[in-house]
Amino acid sequence: MKNFLPFALPLIGEDEITEVVDTLRSGWLTTGKKTVQFESDFAEFVGASHALAVNSATSGLHLALEAVGVGAGDKVITTTYTFTATAEVIRYLGADPILIDIEPDTFNMSPEKLRQAIAENDNIKAIMPVHFAGQSCDMDEILAIAKEHDLKVIEDAAHALPTTYKGTTIGSISDITVYSFYVTKTIATGEGGMITTENKEYRDRMKTMRLHGINRDVFDRYTSDKPSWFYEVVEPGYKYNMTDVAASIGIHQLKQANAFQQRREWIANQFNEAFADLPMMTPSVARPDDTHAWHLYVLQLDLDKLTVNRDKFIELMAKENIGTSVHFIPLHLQPYWRDRYNYQPEDYPVALDVFNRAMSLPIYPKMTDDDVQNVINAVKKVSKEVLK
Ligand SMILES: *Cc1c(COP(=O)(O)O)cnc(C)c1O
Repeated sequence: MKNFLPFALPLIGEDEITEVVDTLRSGWLTTGKKTVQFESDFAEFVGASHALAVNSATSGLHLALEAVGVGAGDKVITTTYTFTATAEVIRYLGADPILIDIEPDTFNMSPEKLRQAIAENDNIKAIMPVHFAGQSCDMDEILAIAKEHDLKVIEDAAHALPTTYKGTTIGSISDITVYSFYVTKTIATGEGGMITTENKEYRDRMKTMRLHGINRDVFDRYTSDKPSWFYEVVEPGYKYNMTDVAASIGIHQLKQANAFQQRREWIANQFNEAFADLPMMTPSVARPDDTHAWHLYVLQLDLDKLTVNRDKFIELMAKENIGTSVHFIPLHLQPYWRDRYNYQPEDYPVALDVFNRAMSLPIYPKMTDDDVQNVINAVKKVSKEVLK
């Protein structure tokens, strides 16, 4: 392949561009009617009662934990196989993450390990399942455990738009769900996120904390009949609101969310078929009732059959002009988390093994059929070169 194929790229169309220009010409750049529209479109799309737009999923996860009452000395359970954002927000509030291991097929939270962590720890307040790659966690099991122990559930759905679990779209199942519109995610606004909840109290709290702890946001102030200069600060809140520029992109990205998912699923199916006989394991597919968002396509190399390790395989893919990545470097191997909690690599054997063998391939709707074929050809060629 002549040109390098990046690991991820957004697909931005004329509708997004026109909407952004309209917003720029209007003079209202920050949170306003475009954000309100994006929130209501999003709530409808996932079937949630309330949606709040924020400037990132990280902000959203922070607001969610704060709203359910996580504070200093509390513990929150999540997995080691995630992006650091999932765990860092727990530290923002002075609480500690309890990292657990994953299922070897889905890389999602292991319910068995969840039960074990609850039995071994005090002061647990919440559980944060991560729908890895856009495949739903076993939510019935996780929600049953949460109920049994009176714990809150906050879903990290950064990969999971659109994802369904037993026929229900992720977004209204647990206490709070948080999505990401970071540029590499399934729909993109550059930076951005969305929070959904069925709980009006959580929604009100997060809405206030999203904007400095002020009880009316700017848009309300300038459109209601109270004097526009008046506001009340009720908490030391954060600055996590979404701009109308970002929402302008989001409104039109959301309209394509299902079409984008179908294209990614098609690419995943092409890959699965092409790699079936190669020395690698293709990703687990969704349960029959579920929709997999296919944010990521993670191969696990069968290192016993290869002369090289994963890092070298990735180098050889780059020589074929194919960008790849690794999801994830487990948190317990990262200096901050490792040193603070004194983790050893073998503390999480499944995550460690998956990490050593994992390679993520490009999977995004901007890829042409030729791009998909080029990725397949490169994986086949490199596999052949390094076969024992
Ligand atoms: C990308 C990502 C986040 C953070 O999303 P931002 O919108 O960039 O803050 C959180 N969790 C997971 C699992 C992610 O992949």
